[in-house]
Amino acid sequence: MTEAVIELKDVSLRLGEGASSVHVLKGISLEVARGEATGIVGPSGSGKSTLLMVLAGLERIDSGTVRIAGELLNGKSEDQIASFRGRNIGIVFQSFHLIPNMTALENVAVPLELAGHADPFSVAERELAAVGLSDRVTHYPGELSGGEQQRVAIARALAPSPRILIADEPTGNLDQATGRQVADLLFAKAAERGMTLVLVTHDPSLAARCSRQVSMRSGLIEDARLLKVTA
Ligand code: ADP
Ligand code: MG
Repeated sequence: MTEAVIELKDVSLRLGEGASSVHVLKGISLEVARGEATGIVGPSGSGKSTLLMVLAGLERIDSGTVRIAGELLNGKSEDQIASFRGRNIGIVFQSFHLIPNMTALENVAVPLELAGHADPFSVAERELAAVGLSDRVTHYPGELSGGEQQRVAIARALAPSPRILIADEPTGNLDQATGRQVADLLFAKAAERGMTLVLVTHDPSLAARCSRQVSMRSGLIEDARLLKVTA
């Protein structure tokens, strides 16, 4: 096996307070090799989104270990994790999460600018061109179709050149044809740039395009299947 870029060992997490808290992740162990595309499937409420939040360092775990790109996230401060995430992890959400009063260009450039990038607007322009949106840079999210908004979100996720791209049902708000184009784009960009892709999806055809499929049920990994051997 090539180098594991994601390594979870026995990860457990409860969410909510006191008697009404929910044991959301009940002992998840998972290794993902660099450059692999992993599809996470499973019923609603099985813990898929929470698992992605853990991978992104956006949710603290109660026990177990999370090692991303060789670095142990347990024990790091919020600031350290935020800076680690900025350099290593890009995230794409089902509902795009663009900032409505910023243009497409600003949505991509501003996070880079905040991270101290030397030339955020040139990079943003290049990334929007790479997702086929050169003619939409000055548009606001409300002036773009769903597929275009998701492509802006992908450009934003790709712009800092993260090693890992995380996507939570990225085609869930799109019609089938548009969803397919967005999925093609995600897979193409991840492959082109050697990024590791972790994707949650309800769409079996999308999961089938991943090199590995992980099924979750009730906070546990039920089954992990290797679909294709990646180089
Ligand atoms: P999925 O993405 O597979 O649909 P989630 O990871 O969103 O599942 O949620 C898994 C479970 O955790 C669900 O039962 C959900 O109700 C519960 N959950 C999520 N967030 C919280 C929270 N903040 N407090 C309590 N329970 C939560
Ligand atoms: Mg979810």
